[in-house]
Amino acid sequence: MSIVENLEVVRKDFSLKVSKWVIRDEGIHVLSGPSGSGKTTILRVLMGLENGSRFSWKFLGENLAILPIEKRRLGVVFQTWDLFPHMTAIENIEFAARARGLEESTLNNRWEWIQETLKMTPFLNTKAADLSGGEKQRTALARALIAKPRILLLDEPFTALDESLRDAARELLKKLVEIDKVPALLVTHDSRDIQKLANEVTQISDIIK
Ligand code: ADP
Ligand code: MG
Repeated sequence: MSIVENLEVVRKDFSLKVSKWVIRDEGIHVLSGPSGSGKTTILRVLMGLENGSRFSWKFLGENLAILPIEKRRLGVVFQTWDLFPHMTAIENIEFAARARGLEESTLNNRWEWIQETLKMTPFLNTKAADLSGGEKQRTALARALIAKPRILLLDEPFTALDESLRDAARELLKKLVEIDKVPALLVTHDSRDIQKLANEVTQISDIIK
């Protein structure tokens, strides 16, 4: 279990407070709720991109909330994937690996099974700007996983995909989480994501006030 406490965001036109939220530390935990309810805001606070006042996030005995962003070791996939468009798929992933100071040997081991599982060989040397939606998404997943994150955070990762690709993408995510034994926090408002993937679901209305 990881426990988030006293996460409070106060903006001019929006505020939320999470007094206590218990998140799974294995499998896939879904945070669900309508558009505009604050799901992305909560993720951004957990990532350290936004100030959450004096909140705490206890994960296996460590308070991640007081760590600088890079020490939190979170793997992140945004809705828009946010790849560097002028870099190839492999360059995007290598860039992330270098930024996390990953050693060559660790990198090679992980890279082998990640790219195999995600079937990335045909497009590794394609510039991100020229990748299809599905390829971009797989690249973003590989990038998030390459440094073995403590936890994988995904913000509506399937909404920008064609409907016909979403089920395959869900299967892949499920497989990666199982192989890597990395816990995932999945933000979504799609009931099919919940049906296919969730080990547990939190409705945002149950944790905010
Ligand atoms: P969700 O992800 O559930 O759709 P968000 O966390 O994105 O919700 O948004 C919560 C509220 O905060 C909304 O009212 C949204 O318009 C507002 N909001 C989102 N990002 C910002 C920002 N950077 N600055 C000010 N308000 C924002
Ligand atoms: Mg959002």
